[in-house]
Amino acid sequence: MSTQKNTAYIRLQHVTKNFPLTSGIFTALDDISIDFRPSEFTCVVGRSGSGKSTLMNMITGIDKPTTGKIVVAGKPIQDFTENERARWRGKNLGIVFQFYQLIPVLSLLENVMFPMQLLGETDLPKIEQKALRLLAAVNLKDQAHQRPERVSGGQQQCAAIARALANDPPILIADEPTGNLGSEDAMMVLGIFVNLVKKGKTVIMVTHDDDLAKQADRILHLSDGKVVGDSNHAHRKVTARSRKPSHEE
Ligand code: ADP
Ligand code: MG
Repeated sequence: MSTQKNTAYIRLQHVTKNFPLTSGIFTALDDISIDFRPSEFTCVVGRSGSGKSTLMNMITGIDKPTTGKIVVAGKPIQDFTENERARWRGKNLGIVFQFYQLIPVLSLLENVMFPMQLLGETDLPKIEQKALRLLAAVNLKDQAHQRPERVSGGQQQCAAIARALANDPPILIADEPTGNLGSEDAMMVLGIFVNLVKKGKTVIMVTHDDDLAKQADRILHLSDGKVVGDSNHAHRKVTARSRKPSHEE
């Protein structure tokens, strides 16, 4: 499957996700239909328990909807076999987590090289060079040989973003990537996402932080498993300057 920019296109059609509980059925996502366009920066906001992570798990194919369809690049991902889905995810999606999920015994460099090896790349000098370039792009060239515990939380998240970009996916999915960071580090991480969107990546980020969400092209607001707000201001392109928090302007 092609990884070209114009195929980075996700469509949710009437997606419902029910979880069976002993007390009955809990609807975590309730008939959600959304299109994500290429090169768009979307922030997903909403209270704890509103369904944000469940939504992300649908898009990444980590979990399946009870009813409804998720179409990516023209193909319903439910129709993929497990193998196809895993391969598709590896090539097309970079995933960034709240707690970084770096492998503690590997250096930052080795962490970034790892997804390339997972996809079968065996030319070590080549992937090392690529990993170094990715780390340099997030200002971590000098820390490349450190283990995660030796750098700050913000730097660990930047390394996790570099790792998410290892296989050059068109789409980045980040679930509360700044949830564990101070405001300065959060701004640094947001700045990286803004630059990636400028370079053509599609970014979907869950956040609790309204100041951060304001910098996105589009804000989707979830409540009780429904989309209750969609700013869809796709023409308000983000600039480097607008990354400043509004209260400092
Ligand atoms: P958010 O990320 O917005 O905080 P989640 O998507 O994690 O919310 O969860 C939405 C709701 O679905 C919550 O009420 C949560 O308890 C419930 N939920 C999530 N995953 C499961 C599961 N595997 N089994 C039962 N309930 C779940
Ligand atoms: Mg969550």
